[in-house]
Amino acid sequence: MEAFKLPVSTSRAIDKNLARFIWNGDRDGRELHWKAWSTVCKSRFHGGLGMRCTEGMIEALLARLAWRMLRHPDALLSRIDAAKYCRQDDLLSVQPEKNATWGWLGVQWGRDLLKKGLKWQVANGQRIPFSANWIPNSPDLLAFYTSPSLLWDRQFWAFEASGEYTVRSGYHQACKLRSCYQAKPSTSTSSCHIPSLIWKKLWTADVPERIKLFLWRALSEACPTLQVLTRRGFSPAGLCVRCGLKEESISHMLLDCDHPRLIRRLSPMGFDFTSGTACSFADWFVHWMEQAPIDDVRSQSLFLLWEIWKDRNCHVFGEADLPPPHEIDGAFSSSSCIAGAGWVFLSPGRDVIHLGSCSFLANSPLQAEAYTCFVALSIVDSIVYPEVVIHTDCLVLV
Ligand SMILES: [Zn+2]
Repeated sequence: MEAFKLPVSTSRAIDKNLARFIWNGDRDGRELHWKAWSTVCKSRFHGGLGMRCTEGMIEALLARLAWRMLRHPDALLSRIDAAKYCRQDDLLSVQPEKNATWGWLGVQWGRDLLKKGLKWQVANGQRIPFSANWIPNSPDLLAFYTSPSLLWDRQFWAFEASGEYTVRSGYHQACKLRSCYQAKPSTSTSSCHIPSLIWKKLWTADVPERIKLFLWRALSEACPTLQVLTRRGFSPAGLCVRCGLKEESISHMLLDCDHPRLIRRLSPMGFDFTSGTACSFADWFVHWMEQAPIDDVRSQSLFLLWEIWKDRNCHVFGEADLPPPHEIDGAFSSSSCIAGAGWVFLSPGRDVIHLGSCSFLANSPLQAEAYTCFVALSIVDSIVYPEVVIHTDCLVLV
């Protein structure tokens, strides 16, 4: 790939297999591609997943080969190709020959991309051809740059601050020039208007990658909610699987339905997730990511959304619902030997009967969990419930 241009059919076959891998398809091609490959190949900060288009990548690699031949004309490959194909013209202006090798045709293909980002840095002007366009920002991107310290005119790559060609910047230029990567007008209300800064906050959040991918799908209308499945013709009706009252959109499922509201209310993090019915999930997400006070709170909220999604899937696919949040839990800091205890008592209808927390000194996590259990049982004993089931995540204590 670094030295030869692959046939278009081969490049597309590679892209097809990559897409199949991303969408969990099998060898028979039975996969549902939730987003177009051109969207997936966009930068992560512009609503994509940052995948690489094979054809654009090969073009950028061949442009690097042409750049090296331009920069190092005395190298062996440069001298051989120059002797064979550049007897009349230089590398940048030579025309394709009928009997040229496949390798040389690839170099010329990469050279054409390279030419779109080359500019002249002028010293004495002797190497610059008279035919060069001297007007800055002209279509062929030849411009007039001077440098007092430069002895000879030289060309530089205009899309890197260093002036040196890189495959990364070359690939992005190749993508801009390719029709399949140009922004298409979209009627979607989701990811198309999310600012790059919000995407950056999501992808740099301190949460596992699967949670980021889930939120990318939620924001890109690529999450299999009943609303999306109905729109695609996979489901006759898209009412919420929890309440059955409204269409199960991603906004309703994660924010507005009674069940996620209950989960958020029981959450010790105290998030205000009010979305409003007129607000799309993408709008709410942008607002929340801008307003979240600190990174930790932002990351915790992403975890909570992921848990709500998992809880919904357990309900849809017939698995037992996730248990309610642990009724009691202890935490221990080994550096300060301070422990914390929290408890919440729920009725069978999951209404909150009593909740509270306290902190105390302890010597180990087990002691913290045991004391938490003791405090909770003391409160239960004082309130006198007819029947009590205590949930805790400490297996050693149980
Ligand atoms: Zn609902």
